[in-house]
Amino acid sequence: MKESEELTHERERMVENQIRSRGIKDERVLEAMATIPRHVFVPSENRHLAYADAPLPIGHRQTISQPFIVALMTELLDLDGDETVLEVGTGSGYQAAILGRLAKRVYSLERIPELAEHARGILRALKVDNVEVLVADGSQGLPEHAPFEGIMVTAAAPRVPVPLKEQLADGGRLVLPVGEQAGQILECWERQGDDFRRDRVAPVAFVPLVGEHGWDSDERPFSWWL
Ligand code: SAM
Repeated sequence: MKESEELTHERERMVENQIRSRGIKDERVLEAMATIPRHVFVPSENRHLAYADAPLPIGHRQTISQPFIVALMTELLDLDGDETVLEVGTGSGYQAAILGRLAKRVYSLERIPELAEHARGILRALKVDNVEVLVADGSQGLPEHAPFEGIMVTAAAPRVPVPLKEQLADGGRLVLPVGEQAGQILECWERQGDDFRRDRVAPVAFVPLVGEHGWDSDERPFSWWL
């Protein structure tokens, strides 16, 4: 997909001013953020804002997350390229594309079929061929492809879904927002055998994880985005 030099520069500025300057150091993550064209994942009416320091609406009351949060969550997974990764909450497909550049294989689960189909189309157009988007309740994970060296949940869970902890490989990391619908803490869990170590990383505000091991419904007013 050919793009203008201006878009390439906007993306480079995004990486320098919003991501590197806030402490993201993993060069592979910085390279992925500088390479994947975020604007193609943003609906046309907001495309001029694609490299802004903000989450953006993608329809169905859902959002594409702020670039810095995408970079932070990706860095926390500490990927070196050999991993099988599970993402819960495909949304636009942008985070899945970033993960696809940094891991061997990515399964991304989305509960809204229209979003999943749209994301698949973009990933196909970008020739991202190691990411599979499936329609499912991601709070239950994807046992048929477990264990995962990395699991990222891009929707807010009331508590850590037990199936996701169970599907984490030994030495693997699980990154997710945990808390209320109005605000959460980004947590990073690392598995060592049967032990799990948890780091609480930063306050965040994601749309809710709706499902068996998430919230029963999405009750928030559509004004809290990430
Ligand atoms: N990662 C996305 C991106 O790069 O655009 C942003 C994700 S958006 C903040 C959260 C997504 O999680 C929404 O698309 C929502 O439909 C989805 N979601 C919520 N609950 C889910 C569940 N139980 N299983 C799968 N997807 C879910």
